Amino acid sequence: MPKRTCLHCEREVPNGAPYFRVAVALQGESDVLAPADGGEADPAELLKQLEHLDEAELEAGVHEELGGVLCPSCRGELRAFFGVGRRVQ
Ligand SMILES: [Zn+2]
Repeated sequence: MPKRTCLHCEREVPNGAPYFRVAVALQGESDVLAPADGGEADPAELLKQLEHLDEAELEAGVHEELGGVLCPSCRGELRAFFGVGRRVQ
């Protein structure tokens, strides 16, 4: 049986011990029509900015999936980070 290692603390999770599988999707978002300075969006300027990004940069910045195994202790830390009881919206 392959060894399981906690994604966060990197400790080995012994066979037969409880562990938790975690999957996280990071979805990048941007309000391109509402610039950070609060001014009007200039479509020509937006297109110019997009031309300087290559496809790999766009993909990596827009959607990334991470996953692995957590030990019970790190599961507790993750729940505390998100706030226990919060659910996907
Ligand atoms: Zn851990």
